[in-house]
Amino acid sequence: MKANFLKNHSSATGARTSDLVSIVAAALIGVGIIWTVGMAQAATLHDAAHDVRHTTGFPCH
Ligand SMILES: [Zn+2]
Repeated sequence: MKANFLKNHSSATGARTSDLVSIVAAALIGVGIIWTVGMAQAATLHDAAHDVRHTTGFPCH
């Protein structure tokens, strides 16, 4: 009974920890995107988008 309680308790805690890790990871990715877009020079963003276009084989010029 006690082992069962501990097992259930630890799995619930694990689920909460997993949710927290997911939330923190999503927040970091979002802040990283906003930071990158906000701080990068327009020419740098244009060149990066251009390079991705060529890398993926999308017709460009
Ligand atoms: Zn091009």
